Amino acid sequence: MNRRKKIYEGKAKILYEGPEPGTLIQYFKDDATAFNAQKKAVLEGKGVLNNRISEYVMTRLNGIGVQNHFIKRLNLREQLIREVEIIPLEVVCRNIVAGSMAERFGLPEGQPLPRSIIEFYYKDDKLGDPLVTEEHITAFNWANTQEIDDILAMTLRVNDYLSGMFGAVGITLVDFKIEYGRLWEGDFARVILADEISPDSCRLWDATTNEKLDKDRFRRDMGGVIESYTEVARRLGIMKDMPRVIEGGVA
Ligand code: UDP
Repeated sequence: MNRRKKIYEGKAKILYEGPEPGTLIQYFKDDATAFNAQKKAVLEGKGVLNNRISEYVMTRLNGIGVQNHFIKRLNLREQLIREVEIIPLEVVCRNIVAGSMAERFGLPEGQPLPRSIIEFYYKDDKLGDPLVTEEHITAFNWANTQEIDDILAMTLRVNDYLSGMFGAVGITLVDFKIEYGRLWEGDFARVILADEISPDSCRLWDATTNEKLDKDRFRRDMGGVIESYTEVARRLGIMKDMPRVIEGGVA
């Protein structure tokens, strides 16, 4: 079906060789996984929604000077991106206690944090993505101190901007995970935002009811996953670009 060279296949996305050197095509699958892929399902239309939502978020971030890998959306499931050397860290930023933080510290989900907290996890499915410190990151050469500083500063900016952007449409940004990559320019590597930002990688709660509008609906068997992702897109004002998903059709 697809004759392009596949570079990498992850749980929710596939990367193909791009049309020009230094570019890749990022394809968003409908596959959903949780708990290190122990739980799996196919959610029809998820890839289309995440492709469009991530395009929107990355474009907005680019507009405030947060450089990222997104170049342009190509079609319903694919976007053209810059090829980067992925830094093997999941960078999590939290505003409200939820998920693994609630479990680790025995705290109630929903407790606001006095200030945003950034955590690093080493990206390795076999190890279950362990929480790591800056000392591990430099000791094992995953990133240097300058890169860590850049990542911390960019992550706080992303958090501030996205908290405001979602807040304006009645959504609370509880936490999110982002990834970074190195863009090489000669001998110099600049750290830029990569991967995706979507309801798969953020916790998004309705600001009035605290209803979950994100992947926790899948993780916790709550149902209504696609409806919630659609609601996020609708509130961001981008559903008009996706008529076939509104109708529940196959993209
Ligand atoms: N997250 C993610 N991918 C992962 C782990 C976490 O996108 O592999 C996101 C998750 O959706 C949430 C945030 O990172 O928005 C914090 O997740 P947490 O550490 O609470 O882990 P989880 O409860 O997802 O196991």
